[in-house]
Amino acid sequence: MTVAVRFAPSPTGFLHVGNARTALIVWLFARKSGGTYLLRLDDTDQERSTETYAQAIERDLAWLDLTWDRKARQSDRADRYDAAIARLKEAGRLYPCYETPEELSLKRKSRLAQGLPPVYDRAALQLDAADRARLEAAGRRPHWRFLLQPGAIEWHDLVRGPVHFDADDLSDPVLIREDGRPLYHVSSVIDDIEFGITHVVRGEDHVANTALHIQMFRALGAEPPVFAHLPLLTDAAGQGLSKRLGSLSLQELREDGLEPMAVASVLAKLGTSDPIEPRRRLEDLVEEFDWTKFSRASPKFDVAEIRRLNVRLIHEMPYEEAARRLAERGLPVVTEPFWAAVRPNLARLDEITDWWQVANGPVAPVRDDPAFAGTAAKLLPPEPWTEDTWKEWTEALKAETGLKGKALFLPLRRILTGLDHGPELKTLLPLIGRDRTLRRLGGETA
Ligand code: GLU
Repeated sequence: MTVAVRFAPSPTGFLHVGNARTALIVWLFARKSGGTYLLRLDDTDQERSTETYAQAIERDLAWLDLTWDRKARQSDRADRYDAAIARLKEAGRLYPCYETPEELSLKRKSRLAQGLPPVYDRAALQLDAADRARLEAAGRRPHWRFLLQPGAIEWHDLVRGPVHFDADDLSDPVLIREDGRPLYHVSSVIDDIEFGITHVVRGEDHVANTALHIQMFRALGAEPPVFAHLPLLTDAAGQGLSKRLGSLSLQELREDGLEPMAVASVLAKLGTSDPIEPRRRLEDLVEEFDWTKFSRASPKFDVAEIRRLNVRLIHEMPYEEAARRLAERGLPVVTEPFWAAVRPNLARLDEITDWWQVANGPVAPVRDDPAFAGTAAKLLPPEPWTEDTWKEWTEALKAETGLKGKALFLPLRRILTGLDHGPELKTLLPLIGRDRTLRRLGGETA
C-alpha cells in the first residue's frame, strides 16, 4: 500500500506551533513511508477563511521546508460534495431537520436536566411530508443530519491504541447547513476518499469526529483509513494553546529570527520517547520517525526550548550552511574566518549584523584612557595581520605598560568594539584591519 496523507488546515488564522506540529509529523510520516503529502485547505467556512491566511499557511510550510506533492482547496470542490451528498440522501442516511439553534439548546438543557446524554433526539425523523411542507411554507430551511447506525464504532489508533465509541452516545452530525453548504465532516470524508488518503493524522480534538467519520466512510462505500490522533500541546501550566496566541504563530517565530530547524527539531520530538536535540536536516528527523515513539500524554510546549536549540544549532553550524542561510535571510554573507569568530556569540543568525558592523564600522570607540590608547596605537604591528597579531601586540603592550589580563584586554575591547563582550579579539582584530583599528584607537568613530 502506498501511503497517502494530508495536512488539512483551515485558513481562518495563522499556523501556530500546534498545527505546525501536525503538519510536520504528517510530512515526516509521508517521507518515511515513501508516501505522498497533500496540502488541503479546508476553506468551506467562507465567513472566516481568507486568502491572506491561505497564503500565510503556504509561506509557513515552505519556511519549514514541508513541501507538498499535491494541493487542494475545498472551495474548488463543491460539485464533488454535491454528488456524494446526493448519494447519501438516496441511501436514506441524510435527513432534513428544522430546529432553530434556540430549540436545540432547549432540548439539550432538558435532556441534561433529566440525566440523559445531550444527544439529538431525532425528532425530525418523525416529520412527514405535510409537516415539512408546512415548516418550509413558514420560511424554515432544513439543515441535514447524518443518520448514525447503532452499535460500537471502533478503530486502532496509531497513537491512542484501541478506541471505542458507542453510536448511541453520539448525536447525528449536521452535514449540511441551512443555506445548503456542506460542513467540515462531510467535505473532509469525501476528500479523504477521493484523494485516496490511507492515514488521517490530526489532533486529538478530532477523536469524536473520527467515530462519526468512520460511519460516513462506510456509508459512502469506502473503507475508513488508518487514524492517528496526536495529543494537543499545552503550555507550562497544562492549558491548551489557542491558535489565537499570536506569539506562538510560526510567523512570529520566523520574525523572531529563529531557525526553521530549531522549530522542527522541537516539534518533531515533543511527546515522543526521543530526546529533544538539534537536528540540522529534516531527513534526520525522517529517519528517526516512528509511531511507536509517540505517547498519549499531552506534551508541554515551551518556546524557550526552541530558543535553546536555536543557539546550539548556530554554534554548531558549518560555514557552508551559514553562508546559505545568511544569503536566504538577506543578512551579510561573511567569510569563513568571520563566521568561525562570531558564531559562538550568536543566539540568532541576524545578530551577525552587530559583529559585521564591529568589523566594518562604524563603531564609536569607548576610550577610557587616551594615553593608553596612544601607546597601543604606537605599538600596533604592521600588516599583514594574522591571528598571531593580537598576541604579538598585547605582549608588547604588556611589556610597555605593565598591564595584564583583564586590565589590559578590556580597555582594548572597548576601544575596538565599543562593547564589553564579544568574539575573541585575536580573530576579530584582523577582520577590523589596521586602518580602522588605528582610527578607533585615536577616538574616531570608524
Ligand atoms: N480543518 C480541520 C482542522 O483544522 C482538519 C482536521 C482534519 O485533519 O481532518 O482542524
